[in-house]
Amino acid sequence: MTDVETYIKGLKEKIISRDPDQSEFQEAVFTVIDSLKPVLKKHPEYIKANILGLMVEPERVIQFRVPWQDDKGNFQINRGFRVQFNSAIGPYKGGLRFHPSVNLSIVKFLGFEQILKNSLTGLPIGGGKGGSDFDPKGKSDLEIMRFCQSFMTELQKHIGPDLDVPAGDIGVGGREIGYLYGQYKRLNGSQNGILTGKGLQYGGSLARIEATGFGLIYYLDALVKDQNDTLKNKVVKISGAGNVAIYALQKAQEKGAKVVTVSDSNGYIYDSNGIDLATVKQIKEVERARIKEYADKIKTAQYFEGSVWDLSIDYDIALPCATQNEIDGKKAQLIAKDGVKYIAEGANMPSNTEAIKVYKDNQIIYGPAKAANAGGVAVSALEMSQNSERLSWSFEDVDGQLQDIMQDIYDKTAAADKEYDLGKDFQAGANIAGFEKVAKAMLAQGLV
Ligand code: NDP
Repeated sequence: MTDVETYIKGLKEKIISRDPDQSEFQEAVFTVIDSLKPVLKKHPEYIKANILGLMVEPERVIQFRVPWQDDKGNFQINRGFRVQFNSAIGPYKGGLRFHPSVNLSIVKFLGFEQILKNSLTGLPIGGGKGGSDFDPKGKSDLEIMRFCQSFMTELQKHIGPDLDVPAGDIGVGGREIGYLYGQYKRLNGSQNGILTGKGLQYGGSLARIEATGFGLIYYLDALVKDQNDTLKNKVVKISGAGNVAIYALQKAQEKGAKVVTVSDSNGYIYDSNGIDLATVKQIKEVERARIKEYADKIKTAQYFEGSVWDLSIDYDIALPCATQNEIDGKKAQLIAKDGVKYIAEGANMPSNTEAIKVYKDNQIIYGPAKAANAGGVAVSALEMSQNSERLSWSFEDVDGQLQDIMQDIYDKTAAADKEYDLGKDFQAGANIAGFEKVAKAMLAQGLV
């Protein structure tokens, strides 16, 4: 065994023995550290300073109880989390997720990925993530408000504009950010950019809502162009019908692609004529209804229960935009069989390790989440800049910066791929490019 292999083996054993039940965290970390082998070989100083050992251990983990009262008067108790993972290049930055599946392993996996993603944006933001096992589905507005107020009553002790600036994620959209921000302001008596994804009336940035979905397509466009190909007339499958999926759908259509599916956790819509954007927005953003409704409104569409990745059709591009581990090895086999050429991830870790292996074995060009969906956090960082300046930039200005950032992310990952001769492995390219900036900053700052 080489020094690098011995180091990595020891690191993995330590992670497993410390947190044996954190499978999502282990999966995310092991994928990253395996892809860093060539960097560790070239830079033994990273092993000497045990930079990876430091990086996989969060700087701070905060867990708290969130008591709140439902509409029937019952007392409910949920768990809240904030993992402040790494501040080597800037204040902790990353979303809050409200979903019953949230636990420490999920928050740690998301926080760890966020370190490298934020680094790739080129902006001065460190990595963090948080959330709660609270399920917003089926709750009244007042229940959501009471929950958010209770959650922020504790969280506000640990965040600050130069310390940690959370944003939204699954289950935390404009409404929740509004209630969280209101409670922060009430308790602190000050106006500052403590959260991003705020409403436009109180410090939000234009183009933040669109940023992750638009950014995904800007990244995909850069990747496809670099293969001397185009998005025009490509047939695309999208999973999810939330914030990321809707704006990926919009931008993909603007680029001339035909998107034929959207989905939610119950089932999916297949519309061979192309999904109608206005109908999806009406159902999801206005009526807050299930995606099933689409088939009642659009007669050419069919609704099926189950996963959209089990539908076999001829198509070119897969854009998973729903949730983690939605594509396993079996679903990836079907994606390969259907002739897909490109896959770019809007969701965080939607493909499990087996699925990624299938993409690689079948020469499907793969844009990993930390590069492809970094547009959201990039515009969040632009929102922080606008808040500090007390200015609001135009939509065109923010969208233009987003396009430049996504092109730059693609260029960086492609450059790392070339430098280390990875053979179009943009996953390893993204891990390496993201890691090197953080590792250099950590080395410069000493053992802290
Ligand atoms: P939303 O809550 O707006 O939408 C999530 C969508 O995914 C919904 O349609 C939801 O359906 C569906 N979904 C959730 N769980 C499952 C499941 N188990 N199986 C199938 N579908 C499911 O979230 P976002 O669009 O904001 O986030 C989607 C993904 O993108 C997440 O992985 C998030 O971490 C990631 N992301 C989001 C960013 C952002 O700016 N919003 C930034 C970067 C990454 P249902 O309504 O049934 O739950």
